Amino acid sequence: MTAMTRRGFVKGAALAPVALKTFGLGQQTPSTDRFDVVVAGAGHNSLIAAAYLAKAGFRCIVLEGRPILGGGVKTAELTLKGFLHDTCSSAHTALFDNPLIREDELKLGDYGLEYIQPDPVFHMPFPDGTYLTQWRDIDRTCAEFAKFSKKDGAAYRRMLTEYESVKPFLEATTFSPIGFAKPLNDRLAEHPKGKLWQRRLAMSAWQIIRDNFEDDHCRSFMLASPWSNQPPDHPVTGRSAYSSFNQQRWSRPLPKGGSGQLSEALARYIEAHGGVVLPNKPVVRLIIESGKCTGVECEDGSLYRAQKAVLSTIHIKQLVDMAPRELWTQDFVDGVDSWQAECSMIATNYATTEPPKYAVSGGTLSPVHSGLMASPERALRFGYDYARGAVNLDDPPLHIICCTIADPTRAPQGMHTVKVVGYQPYDLKEGPQHWDAIKDHVAEASLRYLRRFSPSLTDEKILARVVDSPLDLERMNPHNWHGSCHAGAWGPSQSGNMRPVPGWAQHRMPIPGLYQTGATTFPGGSVTGAPGRNAATVMLKDFGTSIDQVVGKKS
Ligand SMILES: Cc1cc2nc3c(=O)[nH]c(=O)nc-3n(C[C@H](O)[C@H](O)[C@H](O)COP(=O)(O)OP(=O)(O)OC[C@H]3O[C@@H](n4cnc5c(N)ncnc54)[C@H](O)[C@@H]3O)c2cc1C
Repeated sequence: MTAMTRRGFVKGAALAPVALKTFGLGQQTPSTDRFDVVVAGAGHNSLIAAAYLAKAGFRCIVLEGRPILGGGVKTAELTLKGFLHDTCSSAHTALFDNPLIREDELKLGDYGLEYIQPDPVFHMPFPDGTYLTQWRDIDRTCAEFAKFSKKDGAAYRRMLTEYESVKPFLEATTFSPIGFAKPLNDRLAEHPKGKLWQRRLAMSAWQIIRDNFEDDHCRSFMLASPWSNQPPDHPVTGRSAYSSFNQQRWSRPLPKGGSGQLSEALARYIEAHGGVVLPNKPVVRLIIESGKCTGVECEDGSLYRAQKAVLSTIHIKQLVDMAPRELWTQDFVDGVDSWQAECSMIATNYATTEPPKYAVSGGTLSPVHSGLMASPERALRFGYDYARGAVNLDDPPLHIICCTIADPTRAPQGMHTVKVVGYQPYDLKEGPQHWDAIKDHVAEASLRYLRRFSPSLTDEKILARVVDSPLDLERMNPHNWHGSCHAGAWGPSQSGNMRPVPGWAQHRMPIPGLYQTGATTFPGGSVTGAPGRNAATVMLKDFGTSIDQVVGKKS
């Protein structure tokens, strides 16, 4: 296994990097070296795009501003030696629908990537002492809903079947760049219930959940497992009402050894195909020659030129300042100026001697993924708390992730990593800087609330902790603009062909030679890999080939 620290990679013995070329991770490369594509930022999306381009024979250099690559898909010894924490994401559920994984297009298993699919999938204890557990076995999960309401047990099964029938239509749109595949509504016209699905997708998640489930425990579970970071009563959040069914199919998959193993496997793939991946290379400027983007300049003054294109995963709010404003077109600048942040998170990583333990019939249960959502009303207050800039200390919605239960390689023997993710506003009434004063207090309140459900997680079981407020998450990764770990809100004004900016949703930016990927682009954030594969699809077409040809599919 390869261990990592915040400062860079420490190569381990068990999993040797595959066929590292002349310039391995962390080494310097002469800026005179020639590359077809220069990639600015190494999130999982830009790494995925670079991996497909490398497979097609284009020489790529990936420049990451931080000491460790991966952005939100990164693992580090945040607390104590030997405790490997996922700094942001752990569950790669949506990636399993991407042809990258679903069809194993790049054979990343050969580059060290291995997934664990935990069972149970998700557990939610409630303030009245009851609980609902989602198991990989569908009948067992339906029985959990039926404990509260027979009607809700049947509703879960019916909605799952309905969703499975429409999922291929949704996936075909998600994993194609805007304008490259039939628009979703045209596709839905071929589905027997296509018109109903058009309505459902335009509804709010809350409307769908309220109409299908009668019991508040079942409603809370459907609202918060997984939690979508969007207020569930907002229009066009209808698809989130069905998110639990994605994890019913795939569980919430974890890369063995840490979330960052996905980023590392992609980096190995790029290097094995003639590319270079360099950490500690913040990009500060785009090189423009004869109106075309031909490379980038890093903070240390080094210049990297691209023979074919530059691919950026720099947040659009920062990207527009890296070239003269007049080159972007006014509609693009207007679109960037009006970009909205999303509902932010606070993450506390603990090194512990014990996992969370929840009381269940006949004993206790220690799941990898659990969540606290006191009631549907609590979920519905979420958007209001954000609008007011108010921190919730009494009954905060929380996700608790203890990867070491399924993957003991992430901590010393018998020890655990526990991540508590809360949902709190970046923009406090006192301003975002106030987070530095209150973050420990907020983390304490969240832990106190968790202990109401898992009382054995006492101070003696906690060896160390690191709190990352929404402001810290932005400091950790400038792509988390204003604490937006999905780069920005996902409402109708920033979805589909409006992401990142109306008229510029096809990854091609207004400056010729410059492409954009990552969570600012369609379909948005989370570990889907869709913006990455879609950007590669567009670039490969522009370079005179196609992604189907590159992965050996007949088109
Ligand atoms: C606490 C937390 C938990 C989460 N949990 C999950 C989860 O379980 N499942 C899930 O699907 N999603 C989760 N997410 C969200 C997910 O991590 C992100 O949406 C996703 O990783 C975004 O990927 P990306 O490729 O778009 O960009 P990023 O991962 O943000 O990568 C962008 C990269 O570009 C680099 N960069 C930016 N600017 C520059 C520059 N100027 N020069 C050089 N480099 C630059 C950054 O340093 C970064 O490495 C979580 C997020 C957080 C914060």
